[in-house]
Amino acid sequence: MVRVGIGYDVHRLVTGRKLILGGISIPFEKGLLGHSDADVLIHAIMDALLGTLALGDIGQHFPDTDPELAGVSSVALLEQVKELLEQKGWRLGNLDSVVVAQRPRLAPHIQSMRENLARIMAVTLDQISLKATTTEGLGFTGTGEGIAAYAVVSVVRKD
Ligand code: MG
Repeated sequence: MVRVGIGYDVHRLVTGRKLILGGISIPFEKGLLGHSDADVLIHAIMDALLGTLALGDIGQHFPDTDPELAGVSSVALLEQVKELLEQKGWRLGNLDSVVVAQRPRLAPHIQSMRENLARIMAVTLDQISLKATTTEGLGFTGTGEGIAAYAVVSVVRKD
């Protein structure tokens, strides 16, 4: 049996923050603003994973009003979501994702992000697909106001 889920997230780009995508720190003059480390890609992935089992969204599981979650690494949250899925008898089948950003150029970092996500999810690299696109200067991603991410995942029964 297979189930699928979709996730989407946006965070604003600001100065004075680190840019963290897929759990990797990426050199850039701006970073994403948020209560956690604002890893927009991991947030989209977590929402997709939760969606596979109709478990709500990350706002319910990790409220941005929780002071304990201030500045938290999204990797730690993803590990919790993976654990939740496992407890319910499911594991990741595959992930496909798109990060939408005008800048920085993400191509040089795609492989290390994939490797990091595969390690966290305890799957092989061919289960993790990550793409990046610009929007040709259009919209909030095109002007560099923010970065968006989309994720689609499948999960399969563990047995
Ligand atoms: Mg978010």
